[in-house]
Amino acid sequence: MLDEKAAGTVTSGAAPERVLPPYPEADLMHVIDLLPAEERARYLEIREFLQTRIRAASIDYWNREEFPFGLLADMAKYGLGGLQTDGSSKLFKGLMYTEVARADVSLSALVGIHNELIVGMIDELGSPEQKRKWLPGLEAFTQLGAFALTEPDHGSDIAGGLSTTARRDGGEWVISGAKRWIGAATIADFALVWARDEADGHIKGFIVESDRPGYTATKISNKIGLRIMQNADIVLDEVRIPEENLLPGAAEFSRANDLLRDSRAWVGWQAAGIQLAAFDIARSYSLERRQFGKELARFQLVQQQLADILGNANASLSMMVELARIQQAGKLQMVQAAMCKATTTRLARSSVAMGRSLLGGNGITTDYEMAKLFGDAEILYTYEGSYEINSMIVARAVTGKSAFV
Ligand SMILES: Cc1cc2nc3c(=O)[nH]c(=O)nc-3n(C[C@H](O)[C@H](O)[C@H](O)COP(=O)(O)OP(=O)(O)OC[C@H]3O[C@@H](n4cnc5c(N)ncnc54)[C@H](O)[C@@H]3O)c2cc1C
Repeated sequence: MLDEKAAGTVTSGAAPERVLPPYPEADLMHVIDLLPAEERARYLEIREFLQTRIRAASIDYWNREEFPFGLLADMAKYGLGGLQTDGSSKLFKGLMYTEVARADVSLSALVGIHNELIVGMIDELGSPEQKRKWLPGLEAFTQLGAFALTEPDHGSDIAGGLSTTARRDGGEWVISGAKRWIGAATIADFALVWARDEADGHIKGFIVESDRPGYTATKISNKIGLRIMQNADIVLDEVRIPEENLLPGAAEFSRANDLLRDSRAWVGWQAAGIQLAAFDIARSYSLERRQFGKELARFQLVQQQLADILGNANASLSMMVELARIQQAGKLQMVQAAMCKATTTRLARSSVAMGRSLLGGNGITTDYEMAKLFGDAEILYTYEGSYEINSMIVARAVTGKSAFV
């Protein structure tokens, strides 16, 4: 299957054929064979849709920092809004995050946050009424939520430092404070806001509808990555919400920890996807671009980089498959999630840098896609806990010594 001809390296007298991404054989460890037949068929159908409909179309939106509502509607038809609650295996869900990231990293961030942190939180921690009200629209992608934890003055130290407050006033809660970097906040129907209850000091989760007086979300522009995702600064100026908007299962922050651990792991799937994309593009380019009278793919140093990117991508994917195995058995802990997130994003950063260089000057313009990945990888490295913070979570677990403070 992987002979020279199939790999597109054979030249004939005729004009060379275009070698377009993706390269499905990049899954050298045959990970998709681990899926049961029904999920494998769904996976292949959705991968085809993502590559044909989303990948190329996303570039213009990324350049313009615009949200592609039409593409989201198409993604809804393939059930990407309901992965958390449709009974899919952890492996299938993870491979979906990988394939969406392979097509566009911003949209994979949207799909991941939506499923893991919005649908997941309401499904696990919400009241029956909250589930009835929000889940159907969310699962159909006709409604969106934003996950509002980070603040202007508290990122890595948010768990201890969170300063947004919640005060009980009769049958209402009054929320005051500010949030930063919140994905989809300018377009979402509500934000899931984490605030400290003035009465007992606990951090609690609240559904704050975006049309409430005192709520404003301002888009953060000029980002170097994830440009399709509409990240925003949120100001909460004495926003009043009814008592029943508190998530009953999130009356203490520790209850959200399992979901935060899973969402940290989700970034590892994204990191695998961005590397598969980098390989797809680097391989195609190296088979088409000619210098010194032959394709770049014939030069040893170029082959080294292709092999390194592919190796990094498969190492990341294989690591995440093992994570899914542990997760499916209900045994995933923060140490494994942090290790996988840190390791795969470190490899991703290296892979896209090689890919960028392999395209020479054309690696500098998003017209050739690689520059888009180059910017997006930086976000994977930093959000859901920075590389450094996740590394210290791992080392703390295995030494018993905390290096945070
Ligand atoms: C594009 C994007 C999307 C995001 N989406 C969301 C979202 O939807 N919802 C949300 O709530 N948040 C979101 N975030 C926030 C993200 O999780 C934070 O940016 C991240 O946790 C880092 O926090 P910070 O930016 O405040 O950096 P800081 O905490 O200020 O850290 C700055 C640097 O210092 C290092 N550092 C900090 N403390 C230590 C220490 N003790 N030891 C060693 N090094 C340390 C960090 O590793 C980092 O390199 C998003 C961020 C970005 C950039």
